[in-house]
Amino acid sequence: MLGIVRGSRIIEEKPLLKLKPNCEFCDKDLPPESENAMICSYECTFCRECTENLLANVCPNCGGGFMPRPVRPVIARREGTGLEYHPASKERVHSCYSRAEIESFSQEIKNVPPSKR
Ligand SMILES: [Zn+2]
Ligand SMILES: [Zn+2]
Repeated sequence: MLGIVRGSRIIEEKPLLKLKPNCEFCDKDLPPESENAMICSYECTFCRECTENLLANVCPNCGGGFMPRPVRPVIARREGTGLEYHPASKERVHSCYSRAEIESFSQEIKNVPPSKR
């Protein structure tokens, strides 16, 4: 989705973080206000439990590490911002990899820190 940004204000077209509605592995709901959502640099989205346990901080899609997903404010505290203007995605996403594929991929990469991958 495109937003609008000028300087630090949101006015010209700019790609926005896609707030996906669920964990791509276990399908747990991850609403935009969730503090349990983790993302990689490509916005692959998983719940905290999956990133810590199954994935071992290795994204199965790109091999990168995860950080907590920022919460987008509900209220437009600045004009043209917030969930009202830039709502969360409703399109659920599911991993194309099996648990076994994910585990072997993580096993290979997990001991390399994300900054060295
Ligand atoms: Zn999960
Ligand atoms: Zn990824």
